Amino acid sequence: MVSIVIVSHSKKLAEGVVELAQQMSQNKVKIAAAGGLDDESSPIGTDAFKIKEAIESVDSEDGILVLMDIGSAVMNAELATEMLPEAIMKRVLLCEAPLVEGAIAAAAQSMVGADLKAVAKEARNGIQGKETLLGAPEEDVHLDKTIATKGREIRLIVPNDLGLHARPAVRLVEITNKFNNEVNVSVNDKPFVSARSISQVGTLGAKKGDTLIFKVQGDDFSAFENALKQFELDNFGDPKGGTIKEKEVKEPAKTIVNKCGFIQGIPASKGISIGKAKVLKTETISVDEEIVEASLEELNKFKNAVVRVASETEEIRQKAMGHHGKEDAEIFDFHLLLLSDKEKLKEVEQLIEKNHFSAAYAWFKVFSALEAKYQEMSDEYLRERASDIAEIRNKVLDEISGAHQMKIVLHEPSILVVDEIGPAQTLSLDTDKVLGIISKTGGETSHATILARSLGIPSITGLENQIDAIKNEDIIGIDGSTGIIYLEKTHPEKINALRVEQQAEEKLFKERFSKAKLPAISSDDVEFKILANVSSPKEAKIAYTNGADGIGLYRTEFLYMNRETPPKEEEQYEIYKQVCENMHGLPVTIRTLDVGGDKPIPYLGIPEESNPFLGLRGIRYCLQNTEIFKTQLRALCRISADYNIRIMYPMVGMLEEVLAANTLLAEVRYELDQENIAYSKAMEIGIMVEVPSVTFILPQLAKYLDFLSIGTNDLTQYLLAMDRENTLLSKNYSALHPSVINALSKIIDGANKEGIEVSLCGELASNPGATALLSALGLRKYSMSGPVIPRIKDAIRNMDVSNNKEEFKGFAEWSTLDMVKKAIS
Ligand code: PEP
Ligand code: MG
Repeated sequence: MVSIVIVSHSKKLAEGVVELAQQMSQNKVKIAAAGGLDDESSPIGTDAFKIKEAIESVDSEDGILVLMDIGSAVMNAELATEMLPEAIMKRVLLCEAPLVEGAIAAAAQSMVGADLKAVAKEARNGIQGKETLLGAPEEDVHLDKTIATKGREIRLIVPNDLGLHARPAVRLVEITNKFNNEVNVSVNDKPFVSARSISQVGTLGAKKGDTLIFKVQGDDFSAFENALKQFELDNFGDPKGGTIKEKEVKEPAKTIVNKCGFIQGIPASKGISIGKAKVLKTETISVDEEIVEASLEELNKFKNAVVRVASETEEIRQKAMGHHGKEDAEIFDFHLLLLSDKEKLKEVEQLIEKNHFSAAYAWFKVFSALEAKYQEMSDEYLRERASDIAEIRNKVLDEISGAHQMKIVLHEPSILVVDEIGPAQTLSLDTDKVLGIISKTGGETSHATILARSLGIPSITGLENQIDAIKNEDIIGIDGSTGIIYLEKTHPEKINALRVEQQAEEKLFKERFSKAKLPAISSDDVEFKILANVSSPKEAKIAYTNGADGIGLYRTEFLYMNRETPPKEEEQYEIYKQVCENMHGLPVTIRTLDVGGDKPIPYLGIPEESNPFLGLRGIRYCLQNTEIFKTQLRALCRISADYNIRIMYPMVGMLEEVLAANTLLAEVRYELDQENIAYSKAMEIGIMVEVPSVTFILPQLAKYLDFLSIGTNDLTQYLLAMDRENTLLSKNYSALHPSVINALSKIIDGANKEGIEVSLCGELASNPGATALLSALGLRKYSMSGPVIPRIKDAIRNMDVSNNKEEFKGFAEWSTLDMVKKAIS
């Protein structure tokens, strides 16, 4: 016989339910109570160990059904199940049925020898008896699978050519919502659905000539009937006598394909790739299932996101109305109705409340199912509405996550074509499947680009509306070093030429790769250290195999992304350890959290800033959020006991910041001393040189530091006052600009004079064209994307530093970017 466990926050309630259920089963079924806590001062709650014991006490070969009351009861029951021996665990079923009614129904069913599935089903149906007596609550009527078919009937013949497509469906729901009736509607013997729900009315798929049957309960019957008749007379709002085409509101983007037939973007990450284009559509976005205990918070997150997207959609609707007219604006009515569709919103709420799904996952699940339903529709117009649903789904997801956290999933090797891609998304890409990335927006030093480089994925960015020339499944060839894209359908010969080039590139790469682990020594015997920039253990592995002499920049902020709370000390310790392990004893410079600017992390609570790049970034944030900072410093100090690491502070602009950070570090070390936890007292401390002010106080800073690392990405941004991500400025945003080159020279000379180590970890270091120039400025340590290392080492082996100094001695006179580019070409 199936046995039963009752889990409740209250001991008395659990025991009382057992008593009731036992009475039903005439004490034949084994039923155990796991209620309350064994703590007299706080007896209300649930305890996973207690639940585990209760399950074991009634273990039965036929299975054990566990019924729970609210909130943590579910979490603890899950935890208890995980703690059980595997054999028992397999026969446990946690059931969402109501506690009291479910227990009674389950006991009765078990008593007659039903199996676990049947007992659970009966438990779930336990509520039916009450419903029969009292009727279901009004708001649940829509959710009931057997939607009421009671009430007076109205029949309507679908008059228009296109049938009940999106626009008439929206109108129909609007008409229904105007009246105080309960209305269900059906067509062609399909189950009745609520006429108030766009998600349900839309999927009816009624065609011209079909009869819509409405069942109406309520006082406004006649008014509603008249409105429907008028709607029918109006041909469901479509023009009479002639087929119309649904219009897109957006102006089709003008495609600017180069006269020579190729598409030119900004070269972002080197390498040639040829393959199928995967234009990022909704189906490639996925949200992982996530259980979150704080359901209330998730619920609020979800509701706020929907409200924000609705108000934004309303604004767009108004604009569309002004610019394009009523017909176009109506497309957004469909969006707005989706956002206020009670059925769907309720479904999401229930998944959050009952299943404890995260807001993002619950929303994703419900709207992806709806999208799939539309995709299967036989009617073309309705099928096309799937993309509207996906758009709304993604907008709300964006709002929930606050930072485009959806994961991109590819099912076959392809070149990704996206409007924009975030750093966290790039980091989560499956590098075996992504052959290349093409994006509409972005720049050479945007973080997604930097990450693509570290992962060795060829990439082209800043395409703007040229991107529209690439259609899903097109075979395309991309060259990440020139930024050129060819379409096979128009230029098969160019694709063939690219293939040949790709093979030659691979050959060269293999040659360079075979020497990657050897030191980089110039022909006149000057030794260089070539380090890697990484963001994860995976990238550290790539860097090591590419011959990195260590890690010059480990961007730890990525560990804080794609989650709801900051990583705990232990988790950080483990990840840092993996990075160090992957470098096999080579030095690892770990940069402390560099949040802010182009790396937003919503849960860290940085207030909305009018100029985030000049706001609470990097060390500034850490000094105002010392708990988060100290947790990281603690993990880093512990790592320093066993591994060769150094700490680097980002975004330092003044000495006060270094002193304050060092004081916190001293506090952490003191605390570790008190706890007898080991760390290295010799661990070196350095800063990123990204804020121009640093250039003017090098001697003062040098006293407190062991090293400097120049971050040309930000240094360029702040020196030139140009947003590093702004595609419109990308032509002039360059670390090769004479002012930046002169600043570099000043910093390198200053550091050498103070006897403090200096390296460069901005993207400039990955540019083989700049290697010789940087060597002439006196730089001997470079940090770059792992896959670029073999190439740069090769360039160093083939150069002569004294010659370089001679060649570039007039650099201080350079006045334009073109001049610098010419000089180094
Ligand atoms: C830089 O600014 O040059 C740098 C290396 O840091 P990030 O790109 O992470 O801002
Ligand atoms: Mg920076």
